[in-house]
Amino acid sequence: MTSIEKPNNLLVDLHVKYIQSLDTKKDDLEYWFTEHLRLSGVYWGLTALDLLKNVNTLNREDVVKYVVSCQHDNGGFSGHIGHDPHLTHTLYAVQILVIEDALDSVNTEKIVEYVKSRQDPQTGAFTGDEWEEIDTRFSYCAISCLSLLKRLDAIDVKKAIEFIMLCKNFDGGFGNTPGAESHAGQIFCCVGALAIVNSLHLIDADLLSWWLCERQLKNGGLNGRPEKLEDICYSWWVLSALSILGRLHWINKEKLIEFILAAQDPESGGFADRPGDMVDIFHTLFGIAGLSLLGYPDLKSVDPVYCLPKYVVQRIGLAEKYHI
Ligand SMILES: [Zn+2]
Repeated sequence: MTSIEKPNNLLVDLHVKYIQSLDTKKDDLEYWFTEHLRLSGVYWGLTALDLLKNVNTLNREDVVKYVVSCQHDNGGFSGHIGHDPHLTHTLYAVQILVIEDALDSVNTEKIVEYVKSRQDPQTGAFTGDEWEEIDTRFSYCAISCLSLLKRLDAIDVKKAIEFIMLCKNFDGGFGNTPGAESHAGQIFCCVGALAIVNSLHLIDADLLSWWLCERQLKNGGLNGRPEKLEDICYSWWVLSALSILGRLHWINKEKLIEFILAAQDPESGGFADRPGDMVDIFHTLFGIAGLSLLGYPDLKSVDPVYCLPKYVVQRIGLAEKYHI
């Protein structure tokens, strides 16, 4: 990488080719190692392609058929055919079907039942599956999923908010459980969930936004918590929260754009976690989504709450009403 110039503009065609190539890598060892991530990979790739104005690159019929085959009798979805269902994968499935405008291909009432069954009636918290501990990530998955299905009435929203607020820290941020340290990923989940249920007034927006801004390092990149390395996926978690709180202008956008663009692979496309590392589909979506939030030209706008293209969120009638 050192001898090659770091890219300073968005390599759209290369990224489209890179995402397309993942679909045909079935003989690669890498493909089998990531089997449990297959459904999430489809969500990351499809959303990235849509933001790049190339959503039709993946065959709609194949995508929908695959998602449908990951649904279980209890309504939940697994990361791949034959694996156990999980709340996170259930959200990915719904997000993919919303992008493809294909919610009518699955039993949505069963999805609602599954999500509802993951809430603890006592605490309002959610578990990811029958084995896993509670985590604010799962609160976001449940609330985002039911909001996209217009069925928030199925859960105890008041209790869900109470649990999220128990995870708020003195620095204005949120952790995964009560008392756990603030982390940008969890902050996105909690701010996003509170935005959906019209409860942003519970956040100390100035205090939290200062914490979020302090994540920007000298090289322009953002980290997820103090003393950690910068990473492109954190630019999404931090930026989306700042955007929802109406304070995106509090960070140096030019330096961050430069950092994100430098993490592209100039030969075969895709984004890495930071310049010079190996690319992957997860960081490719969050690099592109981050650039979209920063207003980079020639990209569709991304919705900071749902991490879906904005036009998709508008198409299902979820108007952007969450600014503080
Ligand atoms: Zn990362």
